[in-house]
Amino acid sequence: MSVAKQIEAVRATLKEGVELVAVSKTHPVEAIREAYEVGQRCFGESRPQELKSKYEVLPKDIRWHMIGHLQTNKVKYIAPFVAMIESVDSERLCEAIEQQAVKCDRVIDCLLEIHVAQEESKTGWAWEELRAYVASGAFSAFPHIRVRGVMGIASNTEDEALIRRDFEALKAAFEELKPAFGEAFDTLSMGMSDDYPIAIECGSTSVRVGSLIFGARDYGI
Ligand SMILES: *Cc1c(COP(=O)(O)O)cnc(C)c1O
Repeated sequence: MSVAKQIEAVRATLKEGVELVAVSKTHPVEAIREAYEVGQRCFGESRPQELKSKYEVLPKDIRWHMIGHLQTNKVKYIAPFVAMIESVDSERLCEAIEQQAVKCDRVIDCLLEIHVAQEESKTGWAWEELRAYVASGAFSAFPHIRVRGVMGIASNTEDEALIRRDFEALKAAFEELKPAFGEAFDTLSMGMSDDYPIAIECGSTSVRVGSLIFGARDYGI
């Protein structure tokens, strides 16, 4: 099926109010244009340089989300235009985003990525660590970061109960952190091609769907 058809098929399964982030990492700009033609405006990428080069050649009303692990020295590539950094997972990264956002004279929307999956390899804050960090008031040092919510990746498993448990943990973390950030804290980004319907059942407001729209990727990131 074409990208346009796939995107429409995915949209038809989304509950009202759930945003679709089309994850276009590794796929060419032609595929992104095809999605754009059917009205898709929000795209997710994992690598800062790839994100920047796509931004440069594609329409400027696209909202680009950084969803992959971000090294502090690469924030500069995307800080001037990125719509949201979903993968904020350390104090050092907050400091780097703050610094670059000041340079660009903008406030950058961010999500706090929480590690809930079984696999060691998955990035994100440990929940207890993040909870303590937020409680310490540390975010007041980052006036150019607007914390919009939480992002997470469920365990890579066929076990639906386990996946659901991960999403429920993210939802609970989201609810617990909300009072610390107020009104703007409205985004719970969870759910990918294989598990997004479960994520929506568990309260996701934003799903990140890649391979189901664009097909399989050549390399695994
Ligand atoms: C690649 C990626 C996705 C999309 O994964 P699919 O299984 O292709 O839908 C979603 N979120 C993150 C953080 C990713 O790196």
